Amino acid sequence: MSEVAKVIPAKLSWREDELGNLVPVSDVFGDVYYSLADGLAESRYVFLQQNHLPERFTALFERHLKSLAADLATDADSKLEDSKSNSDLASASNSFTIAELGFGTGLNILATWQLWRQTKQAVYAQQSQHDTSKLQFSPRLHLISTEKHPLTLEDLTRSLQSWQDNDASLIPLITRLLALYPTLVSGCHRLHLEPDVTLDLWLGDATESLQKLADGYDEVTHNAQIDAWYLDGFAPSCNESLWAEQIFAQVQRLSKIDTTAATFSCAGVVKRGLEAAGFEIKKVKGFGRKREMLTAKKATLTTSDNDEPNYLPSDKKQPTDQNQATDQKRPANQKQRYKKAAIIGAGISGLMAAWSLAQRGLQVTLIDQSAPLAGASGNPRALLAPKMTPIAHVAEHLHSIGYLYSQRLYRQLDKQNELLYASDATVTNRPSQIFNNTGTLDLLLKSNVDVSQIAEYPEQMATTLTADKAQDITGLKHQDLEANLYLPQAGLVNPKALADTVLNHPNIRFQQAQVTQIKPSQSSTQSSGSVQVISEPTVLSDSNDNPDNEATGFDAVIIATAFDSQRLDARIFEFRRIRGQLSWLQPTQEQLEALPKLPLKYGGYCAAFTPCENDDQLNPVSVGTPSLLLGASFVRNDMDTQTRTSEHQVNHDKLITALPELSKVLANTKSEDTETDYTGWQARVGIRAQTPDYHPLVGQVDEEGLIWTLSGMGSKGYAFAPICAEVMADMMLGQYTPLPKSLLDRLSPQRSSLQKPLSK
Ligand code: SAM
Repeated sequence: MSEVAKVIPAKLSWREDELGNLVPVSDVFGDVYYSLADGLAESRYVFLQQNHLPERFTALFERHLKSLAADLATDADSKLEDSKSNSDLASASNSFTIAELGFGTGLNILATWQLWRQTKQAVYAQQSQHDTSKLQFSPRLHLISTEKHPLTLEDLTRSLQSWQDNDASLIPLITRLLALYPTLVSGCHRLHLEPDVTLDLWLGDATESLQKLADGYDEVTHNAQIDAWYLDGFAPSCNESLWAEQIFAQVQRLSKIDTTAATFSCAGVVKRGLEAAGFEIKKVKGFGRKREMLTAKKATLTTSDNDEPNYLPSDKKQPTDQNQATDQKRPANQKQRYKKAAIIGAGISGLMAAWSLAQRGLQVTLIDQSAPLAGASGNPRALLAPKMTPIAHVAEHLHSIGYLYSQRLYRQLDKQNELLYASDATVTNRPSQIFNNTGTLDLLLKSNVDVSQIAEYPEQMATTLTADKAQDITGLKHQDLEANLYLPQAGLVNPKALADTVLNHPNIRFQQAQVTQIKPSQSSTQSSGSVQVISEPTVLSDSNDNPDNEATGFDAVIIATAFDSQRLDARIFEFRRIRGQLSWLQPTQEQLEALPKLPLKYGGYCAAFTPCENDDQLNPVSVGTPSLLLGASFVRNDMDTQTRTSEHQVNHDKLITALPELSKVLANTKSEDTETDYTGWQARVGIRAQTPDYHPLVGQVDEEGLIWTLSGMGSKGYAFAPICAEVMADMMLGQYTPLPKSLLDRLSPQRSSLQKPLSK
């Protein structure tokens, strides 16, 4: 794992600009973040206009509408009665990717996002014959920005204040950006600004971040490349690092023919760097009083441009023909290949895979032999709390990246549900709250965490409380809490609420069936994909409206059936199987006072929660009655799913050994010298699938890209699955992933560490 420096937030001074707005000035670099004339106008002129984004966005949306119209005409001609015809509406490569050097105050990103929205609205408004709400595969904007010294949330809020005062249409965008602004630790933070706009904010030095950018290119799908660059470092005289040779080498690697770049600077180093990267440069009039600025367009490819498919593990790479520019092998603007996917397994992996693909416009059929969450993911609550690593490793630590992304996503989905259902009181199937941000206290009893290294994390992620404060926050009175780690963003996930939210997605359909076989074929047509999913005696179709179960296939199948995955495809690793029993009980009225006020980690974990409506559909709980969860046993190679008193006892003993004073809340527990009576305790047993290296499998199983897997989450599904599902969707659609290349290698289903004999 490579080591990266801790992120140091920007130190700012403030100056008033010509409009009376406060403009941040960097104390480190001694330069302003944007023009003192009018920063927003400068962004629009230098970066949007000079990269020709108004025209390019318009062309993208218009081309998409044309492609929809053409497909509708084809459908009408062939009199297809497939109600899923929308799913066959192909589009040309329909995403636009912008990379920025220097996120700063996010002003360029906001202006771009605003332009994207306005252009979409304007183009679609002209096309009244289409129901735009039903548009499939609407183009997507992928914004990638790098930042070494991010602003604190407070400074960001302050610097964006003036723009929302100037332009009211920016208010919702600024509000969303501020709500999603990540914890300031290195690595990539993926923010879903809206369904069709994603921002990957890479915190750390730009050269390192760009080196880590990995696309999902394979031989079949189109590849990701940057369409436009915003070169927005401070002036080269104030900061050489963003204009260094290594930066231009990355610009070269990540660009294709016709990629454009814009920058306010006309310095020699910038001109030479762009030319060396194969760009033709042009001086144009600068913004405001500035005489000139640079625009550039990539005109030539050199053999060193564009790496080979770079998510395959390094040890599996094919030798490349060094004499051939790899772009020549990559079909530009190839039609999106995946339009309808089947996902087998409706646990947390399958659900999140469904969500990530559905968000990208795919029609998803989610299949399970039982109801969603019937397997190991279906506990009444899951504790989402980070497993900390020394801060130098955080950027490549799947647990940290996954945790930060998951809690952000769960909060966002809750907010989305709130808005969605607030406007429609008649809706009855409103999901409960997905994430309860309780915070968690880790008592560091069974962990080898070196607290001195954790001390470098932002307080928002992990901090040590004084013993008094720790007692106060937990409600524990007699416990030595000197050593502790408080994890403020942690909390409890309600799996059922998350599943309900995902299953409400208009592009996701759930089907109950036991899949016996997956049958890839070579050919696919408009209406029939190339993989058949067989559930004896029928072939599953991508639509309910296919009464004959005509063998319409899928474009891809994702296997997400945990330890059962290998049965469906023998190439998938045979996971370790680990039995885990979670216990819960309802304290008596007198005991309620003594319940811990927030979840506690002590080797096991305990968490108080109050079951809400819908919880009882999955587990035997009493809605509205406070309960205490105790987790969880860990038994290798045991597939029995019956609950066991002996494992209640394991969970019980772990708790009272760590926290003796909590023995009083264990309902029905008799005095210390008598045996505990577990009557009234309830439990759920799940069999987790685990790899020996504790990393899940994420990626392609076959060479053709028809069969994929997202599996092996162990007990970390709620932290791992959301980010891994995004990665898999990016790989399928040829987009830059939010994980560094080195980590993708460690997730590959073909990684060499899994080829070793399984040690139990
Ligand atoms: N685009 C920004 C906006 O819209 O507000 C303004 C960017 S400001 C001119 C330049 C930014 O580059 C600063 O935020 C600075 O911290 C960042 N920066 C400087 N050196 C860097 C490096 N080596 N890697 C990444 N970011 C860097």
